[in-house]
Amino acid sequence: MAPLDLLDVDTLLSDEERDIRALCRRVADDRVRPHVAGWYEDGSVPVRELALEFGKLGLLGMHLTGYGCAGASAVSYGLACMELEAADSGVRSLVSVQGSLAMYAIWKWGSEEQKQRWLPGMAAGELIGCFGLTEPDHGSDPANMATRARRDGDDWILDGGKMWITNAPVADVAVIWARAEEGVVGFAVPADTPGFAAREIKHKMSLRASSTGEITLDGVRLPQSARLPEARGLKAPLSCLTEARFGIIWGAMGAARDCLSVALDYATTREQFGRPIGGFQLTQAKLADMALELQKGFLLALHLGRLRDSAGALRPEQVSVGKLNNVREAIAIARTCRTILGGNGISGEYPVMRHANNLESVLTYEGTSEIHQLVIGQKLTGLNAFA
Ligand SMILES: Cc1cc2nc3c(=O)[nH]c(=O)nc-3n(C[C@H](O)[C@H](O)[C@H](O)COP(=O)(O)OP(=O)(O)OC[C@H]3O[C@@H](n4cnc5c(N)ncnc54)[C@H](O)[C@@H]3O)c2cc1C
Repeated sequence: MAPLDLLDVDTLLSDEERDIRALCRRVADDRVRPHVAGWYEDGSVPVRELALEFGKLGLLGMHLTGYGCAGASAVSYGLACMELEAADSGVRSLVSVQGSLAMYAIWKWGSEEQKQRWLPGMAAGELIGCFGLTEPDHGSDPANMATRARRDGDDWILDGGKMWITNAPVADVAVIWARAEEGVVGFAVPADTPGFAAREIKHKMSLRASSTGEITLDGVRLPQSARLPEARGLKAPLSCLTEARFGIIWGAMGAARDCLSVALDYATTREQFGRPIGGFQLTQAKLADMALELQKGFLLALHLGRLRDSAGALRPEQVSVGKLNNVREAIAIARTCRTILGGNGISGEYPVMRHANNLESVLTYEGTSEIHQLVIGQKLTGLNAFA
């Protein structure tokens, strides 16, 4: 990655990891980059087409085992997220939601029958999944969710609504979390179930190359076999968030890298006052500081990936450290790169403003920065400052 890889961090990757990264970079370059500015401008993305493409390459549920999943290491999965998000955070979100949220929920908490029914098609990209936890009135505080699940004979009835759900308008199956008498429970809901509806959320100024929806659940009747039998309590959906946050730790650095490489190129070719703007000390200070944060963020992601590959899992506060730092630094890098591009920085001809705008969503979803600060603060002090 010269010249951005000042520390030769690449030498910490195995040949196999570098090969996977190269493959993902090629896919992003060939299938996403040529079109993504247009998708972003139009606010529409060919989710199904991309899912089939990514499915063929084993990128969906890539870190899961069995049921057609690739069984890749955490580091390899992270590198894939990084390369996809270097093209666009919305496209990485498609893959994260499919693999780390919807598929992981079924893989971890579902019955054998549910796994057989959904996972192979989802791994192939033939079936799209979404994950409905957030509600219009309950985002950071999902414990207070208003969606209800009640028993009716052998069936369950779901009533409520979910908000800001990635992939919902195109999903074949929605993992829905609801409150029942026994606590939080989860369901794999086929999208053609009567009473289930998902409408596209319009007028987004961020993550426009991603399909985001609002789900309504109006007396949705489901058999017992739709309930995720192993999911009991909020720890089940939270475990899925820990999975998805891991991919974001890497992905955000991909978006930042793309911004910095564009800004570096621009700074060495754009001239003002008779010389390249990269020759001015103030520009070099920006570039140097950003290169530092990019390398630190990558090292942090790699450390967490190695830890996860050796220990099998990360603790929530470790994931919070990564998500808080890397998204915060990525958005700072994107904004600073935007200044280096001057007026061109606001143009869709360059990816920088698109990345900066996308990262606003990434900063908010999968736990806002404030929520991750509270997770870390609680770990440090032993005191719960959430409420
Ligand atoms: C593009 C996009 C895609 C998304 N995709 C999904 C998806 O696929 N599935 C899904 O379930 N959700 C999804 N979300 C929802 C996302 O996870 C929530 O928006 C997020 O959790 C924040 O919830 P909220 O928007 O209700 O904000 P709120 O929870 O209302 O927070 C508003 C502000 O208050 C702060 N705040 C809240 N509580 C505290 C506290 N105790 N202390 C200090 N500050 C606090 C927050 O940090 C934030 O700054 C998506 C969101 C977006 C924007």
